[in-house]
Amino acid sequence: YDDRDGFIWFDGKLVPWRDAKIHVLTHALHYGSGVFEGERAYGGVVFRSREHSQRLKDSARILDFEVPWTVEQIDAAKLEVMAANGHTDCYVRPVAWRGSEEMGVGAHANTIHLAIATWEWPSYFDPEMRKKGIRLDIADYRRPDPATAPSTAKAAGLYMICTISKHRAMAKGYTDAMMLDWQGRVAECTGANIFFVKDGVIHTPIADCFLNGLTRQTVIDLAKRRGIEVVERRILPEELAGFSECFVTGTAAEVTPVGEIGPYRFTPAKLTETLIEDYTAEVQPKKAAA
Ligand code: PMP
Repeated sequence: YDDRDGFIWFDGKLVPWRDAKIHVLTHALHYGSGVFEGERAYGGVVFRSREHSQRLKDSARILDFEVPWTVEQIDAAKLEVMAANGHTDCYVRPVAWRGSEEMGVGAHANTIHLAIATWEWPSYFDPEMRKKGIRLDIADYRRPDPATAPSTAKAAGLYMICTISKHRAMAKGYTDAMMLDWQGRVAECTGANIFFVKDGVIHTPIADCFLNGLTRQTVIDLAKRRGIEVVERRILPEELAGFSECFVTGTAAEVTPVGEIGPYRFTPAKLTETLIEDYTAEVQPKKAAA
């Protein structure tokens, strides 16, 4: 991704894409002291931009650093780099990290940096797979106990187990992996939250040891607006046999149907389809009142 045309917003300036570089002694590279966001812009408007900027700042605080820009400045910077790249419908990736002044676990002297890149990312999963539903493996690694890691921050270091799990799943022919939590209950996927359907009711795990995705929150609201019951509860993997539909949610994945998880089978149907339509409508820029 480093060799392309375009611009990256880097510590307040627009830098040519290929020149947006950092030193090898960057603390974040060695000690995982980076946090990031994943957002999508639709028709030139970043969906829930303010909440994503706030989450970036919150994730940084959990890692004991402060992003040196306000939510308003970060929101404006996203639009600035989108305009420079000529993007209206794109993925937006802000990343904040500790720099390279000091080497060691302690990092008080390290400058905090912020960069924002945008790129076109039409659909996370293959369009054909979206109709039949993607295939998920069950990951060997579990989401860590909140007493073991800052498991609800969108911290770069937490993605190590996600990449390993995704690679293992792909090597077996799956699209992605579903991860259990530290207690062996269903948690989420490597970059998306998960939902199940049974008798017209939606069931989803409680987001207490993984990211409570903004897409997750949006989809729960959309379902409730339609009068669909949403139950947040502990879900055991054995229960998967009793669900008829399954889908995952995330900024990149949007609402993506799941056809299979290990030995369990699901058939994407009406409820998933309705939420895909509702989500697609919800992310469209709101027309200003006349
Ligand atoms: N869980 C993980 C591990 C993720 O990486 C993501 C994507 N950011 C999500 C859930 C979904 O979050 P959101 O809906 O805010 O994109």
